[in-house]
Amino acid sequence: MSTETPTSEICPKCSGSGWEPIEGGVRRCRCMESARFERLIADARIPKRYEHCDLDSYVPTHDSQKKAKIYVQRFLDKYPQIDTGLLFLGTCGVGKTHLSVALLKQVMVTTGDGGLFYDFRDLLREIQASWNSVSQTSELDVLRPVLEAKVLVLDELGANKPTEWVRDTIAHIINCRYNEKKLTIFTSNYLDTPSKQGEESLTDRIGARLRSRLFEMCTEIDVRGEDFRQEVKKGKYRF
Ligand code: ADP
Repeated sequence: MSTETPTSEICPKCSGSGWEPIEGGVRRCRCMESARFERLIADARIPKRYEHCDLDSYVPTHDSQKKAKIYVQRFLDKYPQIDTGLLFLGTCGVGKTHLSVALLKQVMVTTGDGGLFYDFRDLLREIQASWNSVSQTSELDVLRPVLEAKVLVLDELGANKPTEWVRDTIAHIINCRYNEKKLTIFTSNYLDTPSKQGEESLTDRIGARLRSRLFEMCTEIDVRGEDFRQEVKKGKYRF
């Protein structure tokens, strides 16, 4: 059996060298850019369910959604000349994660900057699992990518109520990123002023100190509307 790479996988422009011959020399081949983008996307941990998300496929059905979409576009136009992250607040299914993933992908494809997506619960779980009670630290393997990503999406902030020390770790991550001028995009289903009595606020879930830090480092974007998943089920939208 032949061990050669099938010819269909070899770029016809550069024959796999990464350098495309042009008159008078060579230039970096485009296939390298798409390979780099694919690597960035693969490293970003975007869940399969959200891989398709981009700004074009976000169809606003509420004024606040229109504003949110415009805001994301402005953010992208300014990036990297921007020093505050975003905090999307709204009930379930209004497209907060969709918009965050759209932003993350667009940053990676247009600038080549590394991005990372983490569900808040997964991050807490991984930090807790890597906690070493002797050294009183968490594994750098978990923390390093979270600290180093140029843009980090932290989805579903407050979905789990962290213990005091996990809260401190999260505050540490967020502070380090802020001090290094790295952008963090947060989403949360918990509002500052819950619409129903008895519901917890974002501060109830993450603590006053962290909430106040977010005020400082993020622009808040309220997204309202119906749960898109329910609307699709009712047959209002087709995909
Ligand atoms: P949230 O993060 O606010 O809970 P999601 O972003 O997870 O909401 O949205 C749930 C699903 O509905 C996702 O598959 C998302 O792509 C889709 N969705 C939500 N809002 C819209 C919209 N306005 N246009 C297109 N798809 C949407």
